[in-house]
Amino acid sequence: MSTKNILITGGAGFIGSQVVRLFVEEFKDWHIYNLDSLTYAGNLENLKDIESEVNYTFLKADINDFSQIEKLFKKYNFQKIIHLAAESHVDRSITNPDAFVRTNILGTVNLLNAARGIWGSNMENNLFYHISTDEVYGTLGETGFFTETTPYAPNSPYSASKAGSDHFVRAFGETYNLPYIISNCSNNYGPNQFPEKLIPLFINNIIEKKPLPVYGDGKYTRDWLFVKDHALAIKLLLEKGQNKSTYNIGGFNEWQNIDLIQLLCKIMDAKLNREEGSSASLITFIKDRPGHDKRYAIDASKINKELGWSPTVTFEEGLEQTVEWYLSNQAWIKNVTSGEYQNYYNKQYS
Ligand code: NAD
Repeated sequence: MSTKNILITGGAGFIGSQVVRLFVEEFKDWHIYNLDSLTYAGNLENLKDIESEVNYTFLKADINDFSQIEKLFKKYNFQKIIHLAAESHVDRSITNPDAFVRTNILGTVNLLNAARGIWGSNMENNLFYHISTDEVYGTLGETGFFTETTPYAPNSPYSASKAGSDHFVRAFGETYNLPYIISNCSNNYGPNQFPEKLIPLFINNIIEKKPLPVYGDGKYTRDWLFVKDHALAIKLLLEKGQNKSTYNIGGFNEWQNIDLIQLLCKIMDAKLNREEGSSASLITFIKDRPGHDKRYAIDASKINKELGWSPTVTFEEGLEQTVEWYLSNQAWIKNVTSGEYQNYYNKQYS
């Protein structure tokens, strides 16, 4: 059996589908297995264009089910693992933290145990690459940046569960010598993002002329990265990253929410041929999210200096491409915003 098998977990999601596509296109001598349980956030429509490629296979499985995972590991003998499967939405973690503990912590430990089980003691050609978030570092004041040595101080159940999973990956490296890389990335945006997250939610609401719910005073600051640039960073780290290392990935691109929303409104007014200011008139300030981190900012100089990675598109270019994608893929939005989404939306924003 070929050992040139890469497992990508969560490959039907927003970032995972970009990583799967990039790997299927770029790694022709590898077979890419996409393991996903298809929660509300997983959508195989995201991968329609590559589903019949010979080096691609979809595996419907749940990382919370160890016996199912173990069987798949034994059958396919994955040499490298890129782990993205997770519960990923902060607001959902506030209403249902348990699901985040299960999938993000216990699910990750299941994968680590399964990898250790098949890799044995000779792991020189193996890698467990864990995808994480800058939210594990907590919040910043008005100045400074998160670096790879910033102490963890997660404030939401989501970030606490991601922090827990990062610690387990590192601990398996120290305790069992499991080869690993962890990357902590800032907010991603781009095509195929589920419209519970800020940018697609607002694009969708502007199209439908619905209110644009802005938390608190709108002064929360985030760094934004185009999802395709995140996928390129992941490919680079898989190929050239140092074993047992952490890398921060970010867009060198900080925005206060309210300024980003104003920019998006301007782009949308132009695209939809609406009077300037009509989208901005939909902005509605709502009660703040508990435990809301004021500012995240990433220092991505390590991956930049060591491996030469930097974003390939500016924020304006990425946002333009994103808006274009949502406007041309209204059927995708209609599909994912039907059914359960409506209940979620009504509970969250009414
Ligand atoms: P997403 O919610 O769009 O996708 C998550 C995917 O995981 C979905 O396809 C879902 O079906 C799958 N999944 C969930 N639970 C599963 C389970 N138990 N078993 C198997 N599959 C399961 O998330 P995303 O935004 O693409 O994020 C992917 C990863 O990147 C996550 O680990 C997230 O923490 C991390 N991350 C995201 C961002 C961001 O801005 N979106 C930034 C930094 C890091």
